Amino acid sequence: MEREIYTKTWMDEFREQGQPLIIAGPCSAETPEQVMTIAKQLPKQVKVFRAGIWKPRTRPGGFEGVGAIGLKWLQDVKRETGLKIAVEIATAQHVELALAHDVDVLWIGARTTVNPFAVQEIADRLEGTDKIVLVKNPVNPDLGLWLGGVERLINAGISKLGVIHRGFSTYEKTKYRNVPEWQIAIDLKTQLPNMPIFCDPSHITGDRNRILEVSQQALDMNYDGLMIETHNDPDKAWSDAAQQVTPMQLGEILSELKVRNQTDETEEFLSQINILRLQLDEMDTKILDILGKRMQIADQIGALKKVKNVAVFQQQRWILVLEKMLSEGVQKGLTKDFITAFYAAVHQESIQRQDKIINKIK
Ligand code: PEP
Ligand code: MN
Repeated sequence: MEREIYTKTWMDEFREQGQPLIIAGPCSAETPEQVMTIAKQLPKQVKVFRAGIWKPRTRPGGFEGVGAIGLKWLQDVKRETGLKIAVEIATAQHVELALAHDVDVLWIGARTTVNPFAVQEIADRLEGTDKIVLVKNPVNPDLGLWLGGVERLINAGISKLGVIHRGFSTYEKTKYRNVPEWQIAIDLKTQLPNMPIFCDPSHITGDRNRILEVSQQALDMNYDGLMIETHNDPDKAWSDAAQQVTPMQLGEILSELKVRNQTDETEEFLSQINILRLQLDEMDTKILDILGKRMQIADQIGALKKVKNVAVFQQQRWILVLEKMLSEGVQKGLTKDFITAFYAAVHQESIQRQDKIINKIK
């Protein structure tokens, strides 16, 4: 597959050099007055106006969007303010209507990216157009689905592409509405290096008080832009009230954000970072060395268990190991989440190796 037909250059039209591209507007278009009021109050850094016209609701009974009539309101916004307009599309019919109303940016929502049939239908309908299309990550943390969605558009010849990291669903309650998985986005960028990447801190946090914090994290990781839900009266919004900010709050957030340089070519920076990276590289080699030795000992335990016909997984032992490592690790300044994830991986690898040994020797 041609991986490099897409470019970042479409963004140059919208943003000042080195600045993130800001997309803002309400979760849902509600009335013609609401969209126009918001659009006119948006800070000048915003170049694209977003509004949901068709709303995918998790459960029936919620506000499902105003439908195609809202596209006319967006056209009015574009005419009066000069902002580009963006909507979510989920079916070929949505694409059809968006094209007919000269929508500039189409985005595929998280609930649609999970469905290859739906994405293919959208890609087929977009073939031959030169629309800008942004693909939100799927609801579940599956890199393949996200990549697959983008690839279907690339295969349809769409070159003005981007992805949006909007966080991932979890069953457990967390401090996020949708947990950011920064590493998945990094893995996606490794496969598609020039792909512009946006962050949607509104759907990640679900909380207007944390938009700044997550937006800054995204810029620290060199994201190309942000999509931030903005409403003239957030508490009365017909959808996603808790996470929307007013245009004025958006202005404050944007002025507080620090844009990082891609890199710094000064001698001073390069020499300092190289020394630190060398130290990291050496430590990483040692970590692998120790892990290799640890697995060899796990193998010996596997052989012992085989001889005595003892089960591979020992619940009590695992609980003790984890407790011990949590208390030692926290004292060394590591987070509980990290220690738990790390030891779960180490333990799983040991178990798999022992299982192989037991079954092979049999
Ligand atoms: C939205 O942008 O309003 C939306 C529905 O987002 P997501 O697809 O990320 O849930
Ligand atoms: Mn929303």
